[in-house]
Amino acid sequence: MKRYIYTFILASLLLPMLAASSSSISVKNLRLWNAPDNTRVVLDLSGRINHRISTFTNPDRIAIDLKNASVKSSSGMPHEIKNNPFIKRFRYGQYSKNVIRIVIDLNKPVRVKSFLLKPNKVYGDRLVIDLFDKYKAVATKPIQSKPKRTGKVTIAIDAGHGGEDFGASGKKKTREKKIVLSIAKELKKLIDKDPIMRSYMTRKSDYYVSLRKRTKLARKANADLFVSIHADAFRRSSARGASVYALSQRGASSETARWLANKENSADLIGGASISDREDDVASVLLDMQMDKTLEFSLSFGSQVLKEMEKIGRLHSKTVQTAGFVVLKSPDIPSVLVETGFISNPYEERKLRSSKYQKQVARAIYNGIKKFLKIEKTAFLSPSSGNR
Ligand SMILES: [Zn+2]
Repeated sequence: MKRYIYTFILASLLLPMLAASSSSISVKNLRLWNAPDNTRVVLDLSGRINHRISTFTNPDRIAIDLKNASVKSSSGMPHEIKNNPFIKRFRYGQYSKNVIRIVIDLNKPVRVKSFLLKPNKVYGDRLVIDLFDKYKAVATKPIQSKPKRTGKVTIAIDAGHGGEDFGASGKKKTREKKIVLSIAKELKKLIDKDPIMRSYMTRKSDYYVSLRKRTKLARKANADLFVSIHADAFRRSSARGASVYALSQRGASSETARWLANKENSADLIGGASISDREDDVASVLLDMQMDKTLEFSLSFGSQVLKEMEKIGRLHSKTVQTAGFVVLKSPDIPSVLVETGFISNPYEERKLRSSKYQKQVARAIYNGIKKFLKIEKTAFLSPSSGNR
């Protein structure tokens, strides 16, 4: 999928009548992000806005009503949209005295989710509108105690961040979301070449996937192991080295770990997930006995990856750290999160940008998976064992 940023200017005849009044909120820019199952429309705003969305049929379209708003002529509001599964075109105009209406003409009926995002380091106030296929519900697989083991071991590769959420950035404007996707793709190549493994990527290009959805997708793909790939940033640029995390049973094991977990978990606030994404909290399931076994496997898996990471560079911490990462909370899939280095450290930023190091990291994670599968063979891979 490509990231589409429409930059053409709409020199519309409508513009003169949409001139901003001094108190109005302006729509400054519009971005589209295409994910495999949805399209995200993001409006950059000059402040918080009141909005209402209505859906119409015959022809299928949605209307976004913005109160006390104006559309800037440089907003990049696209007109005709090519090759988007949902969107045909955008139109807008003055709907009533205080309301601007943006109409999205659709190719098919949609399910709409909309929410506001607060400003962050990269963007200001935003209105996010997610369009999903109305008749294609996201199937959620129930948690199974004994999934059928057939053939290959499925490794879920989770490239952190994406889309609106850049993740950490370095002095050279290196974006974490880009680095970790490159590493994830290298890892995918190695796994797919392996006769006993297959890969599943929770994110395949530059779009955002909420933290809960990442775990859901992994479960849907029948993942046996889950590895989330990140690159870190810290306020001190001297901080460096790789670390590996597993989920902690009770909160974070150290202050740094807690700080980091907060940062990675806030991705949903930056990348954009609506409240309803969090409704199906698996917290209660965490108490399940199964979780203990999964955690044991996660720690064992993590320590193998850590040993391999040590061979290619410095470690930030010599043992597997534990923290409350949302993305590691699958009760039935051993999961680790690899912080591949500090993007905030100039030396490591340079390394993380190089395809040589990206390949080395992918190789280290892959070797860690191999070692884990070898060590835990009987316990982990046997269909008659308690966990899997
Ligand atoms: Zn990250």
